[in-house]
Amino acid sequence: MFVEGGGLPGRYRTAEFHFHWGSRDDTGSEHAIEGVKYPLEMHVVNYAARYDTLTEAVDQDDGLAVLGVLFQISDRDNPAFEPLAESLQYIHKAGEFQMVGGVRLRSLLPKDTSRFYRYSGSLTTPKCFETVTWTIFEEPQKISARQLARLRDLLHEDGHYSDVTNDPKSGSVGGAHNAHNYLVDNWRPLQALHSRIIKQSFPFASPRTDPMALRKGRRQIISVPQVPGLLDNMALGMQRSGTLGYHNAGASPQGRQLI
Ligand SMILES: [Zn+2]
Repeated sequence: MFVEGGGLPGRYRTAEFHFHWGSRDDTGSEHAIEGVKYPLEMHVVNYAARYDTLTEAVDQDDGLAVLGVLFQISDRDNPAFEPLAESLQYIHKAGEFQMVGGVRLRSLLPKDTSRFYRYSGSLTTPKCFETVTWTIFEEPQKISARQLARLRDLLHEDGHYSDVTNDPKSGSVGGAHNAHNYLVDNWRPLQALHSRIIKQSFPFASPRTDPMALRKGRRQIISVPQVPGLLDNMALGMQRSGTLGYHNAGASPQGRQLI
């Protein structure tokens, strides 16, 4: 799969996708919107098509574009996730493999891929290269508690406690300690915004995107790669260090900085 448009600096090839999840419903995502975290976040990792491999692109400027999709719990199963849920029945711990068929990545993304947050940031796993163009879709997708449990029931391969997000040296305030060896809370805590600019592809009109809410320090915004072409004519609003402006219509494809 290729991802392009939507203000991405070029064409990207999809390398892999993966999930971050929590032990509880109020945590698990690596991004928060208006301070709210979600129980599950999917990352679709793409690398610049001018490189031959992900490894080659990983430490290059604009080398990576990661799409982030947040999930919230629903009473109903998400059919798009079901092939994964089915296969997870046969996986008990880290390191085991199972072939998965019938996954349609596009169907795990929001129908409307024109509404997203965008920022330049890093990988959330070591070595945390600052080479990622993040796209976080605004609209959370759905997953049932039963499907999410398939992830939460996974075990660590070596029996270590899942407290990687509770490292006191990093000042983390990560998830609850896990006394049962379950592979959960594999997320990185929110990082300081510093001078990052966060763009938004839709008008800052709703309470959900209240500029004041965006001003609160420790935030990380989600980004998602786009299906080719869908975002070519999007409007971008931008934010720098918590100050933002409005941009409602007629933006250039590159957007406009409003600070
Ligand atoms: Zn990730």
